[in-house]
Amino acid sequence: MLLQADKSLGQNFLTDGNILDKIARSVRAKKGDTAIEIGPGQGALTRKMLEKGVNIIAVEYDERFIPLLNDLNNQGYEGKIEVHHADVLKTDLTKLIDKKVPLIGNLPYNIGTEIIFGSIRNPESFSQMLFLLQKEVVERITATVDDRHWGRLGLMCQQYADTAYLFDVPPTAFIPAPKVMSSIVELNLLEKPRFDIEHKKLERVIKTAFVKRRKMLRASLKGTLNQDQIQTAGVEPTERPENLTLSDFVNLAKQL
Ligand code: SAM
Repeated sequence: MLLQADKSLGQNFLTDGNILDKIARSVRAKKGDTAIEIGPGQGALTRKMLEKGVNIIAVEYDERFIPLLNDLNNQGYEGKIEVHHADVLKTDLTKLIDKKVPLIGNLPYNIGTEIIFGSIRNPESFSQMLFLLQKEVVERITATVDDRHWGRLGLMCQQYADTAYLFDVPPTAFIPAPKVMSSIVELNLLEKPRFDIEHKKLERVIKTAFVKRRKMLRASLKGTLNQDQIQTAGVEPTERPENLTLSDFVNLAKQL
């Protein structure tokens, strides 16, 4: 029996068994391995992972679900699930494990990108990240240059991970049904960032350039980089941010 969904916590519960199986199969973990699950809710994906023999460390904010999740210990999975009643945004997930593990979850859509930005720079802790998110966000994560979805999220993900768009999940797979299509995305974290550049500098130049994505760089980067610096980076000041590759942004960031 499903508990009432709390919209403020982005609760849409996955109920389609085939899709849950497909997600569980996409997690790179074998029997005896551990994975961290964000927002397990009433444990639909959690159960699939436990059935696969994968131990789960769960981080759930809604206290109503904590007893249900802990009870899995009494349903044949004793010692296989560790439940943390916590806000994932205020939790250092790297402290929950002492080895590299997959980080998975049907994420609360309102904080999905924040969760990604908060975890993607930890390749020593997370091997694979496998998330269910709005399709539009997954398109931004996996976008490439010249794509209309290309922007800060795709650029940052490309700097720290190899990304893959796995499959779509229709609204009918959830209760309550979300208004939009959802998709599964996989991020495999790189041992080292793709380019050697200070994170803060890269972030600053990308954020500034994309404040107005239709503006030319000479206008959007005014006050951050002058036209000479933009040209020294090998970029035309009349270009627009959506036409620049990650490597272009790295060269611009080196001018800061
Ligand atoms: N995994 C379940 C499923 O697929 O049916 C539930 C997914 S639902 C989209 C998102 C889950 O994240 C909910 O259980 C919600 O309570 C939880 N959640 C929301 N905000 C959270 C936060 N800040 N920290 C941890 N969990 C959170």
